[in-house]
Amino acid sequence: MKVLVLGAGQLARMMALASKPLNIELRAYDVGSAQVVDPLSPGISFGDLSAGIEFANVITAEFEHISHQVLAQCEASGKLLPTSQSIKTGGDRRLEKSLLEQAGVNNATHKVVSTKTDFDDAIATLTFPLIVKSALAGYDGKGQWRLKALAQTEAVWREVDTFIKEDTSGQSQAVVVEQMVSFDRELSMVGVRSKTGKTQSYPLTENHHTNGVLSVSLATNEYQSLQSQASDAFNKIANALDYVGVLAIEFFQVGDALLVNEIAPRVHNSGHWTQQGADTCQFENHIRSVCHLPLGSTDLIRPTAMINVVGTDSVPDSILSIPSVTMHWYGKTKRAGRKMGHINVSGSDKKELLYRLQQVAKQLPKIDFPEVSNYVNQLL
Ligand code: ATP
Ligand code: MG
Repeated sequence: MKVLVLGAGQLARMMALASKPLNIELRAYDVGSAQVVDPLSPGISFGDLSAGIEFANVITAEFEHISHQVLAQCEASGKLLPTSQSIKTGGDRRLEKSLLEQAGVNNATHKVVSTKTDFDDAIATLTFPLIVKSALAGYDGKGQWRLKALAQTEAVWREVDTFIKEDTSGQSQAVVVEQMVSFDRELSMVGVRSKTGKTQSYPLTENHHTNGVLSVSLATNEYQSLQSQASDAFNKIANALDYVGVLAIEFFQVGDALLVNEIAPRVHNSGHWTQQGADTCQFENHIRSVCHLPLGSTDLIRPTAMINVVGTDSVPDSILSIPSVTMHWYGKTKRAGRKMGHINVSGSDKKELLYRLQQVAKQLPKIDFPEVSNYVNQLL
């Protein structure tokens, strides 16, 4: 079996690592250079997209912001899973919101805005505080504005209007104006759907962000009472898209209810803990599902946390002396704000996990991990 992944970043790399033991050969299409590469040693080119399509039995994606032309070319080959519609839905908040509405999944009250009239209408009908998010190309909190009171509206509109007019995507840019949700915590869930429509979900994961970027994810199996709501949302969304592969859902927990914030039609950063904490990791399950292999169990085998390594290419080696700590580097060149790797930490129970997490956090430099220690201390 041969798989081509659209996108050649760390997610493709970790899919390649999971594919090897299954005897599945994986290559990745780097959208920047328009070349097909081996994501485990990206120096050598295997040709252009057409060559990649010819090579593969199955084509999948590691991110949702892929040009529609590339998606169309892949879909025409009959090899693309999930469908281009699923990938586009994850890359456009308008499509995402209408999918959630159609599927009957709870989400934040919102309005789609492309003109000043739409904006005024949204301000008149929604209640402050509001968050304005770009429809296209948003990630890690980019393309967002917070709107706390009426007095800010003109200034925010000027910025949003310029943003919409200066868009170079070739598609029509807009924003979604959304009610701020006063949530108890942010949770996410990764699930997988097979070609025959079988679905399986991983346990809900608790997420902590620093400056809009995921910093720590914690998977402990303790949100059992919310798990069926999350799996129900996953089934509705995945079935509505006739989805094949792994899909992630980000939620806001408000009391006993879950509201969907957004979906990602791919393996997800908040699912990296599955490499050490689940029976089958998210990367293997994605590959299994798009290659029509039986899905692996998504059970949590031990409580596990993930710490993102952002903007630095070194951490103290001494953390590896702590039991059940594993390091995952992505082989990328250091840049401020760039996701460079992650650390997984496991324990036989939550107490042991939190103890180990605290040991790791103590050794991580505060400059590169400004909030990790505080967050871990709150959990203890
Ligand atoms: P990602 O990197 O997850 O793709 P993103 O840029 O696509 O991020 P969101 O996940 O929608 O954007 O928003 C980033 C963060 O902003 C959320 O994790 C959450 O903390 C906050 N946020 C977004 N929408 C709301 C909302 N309606 N109410 C409260 N907080 C929100
Ligand atoms: Mg998000």
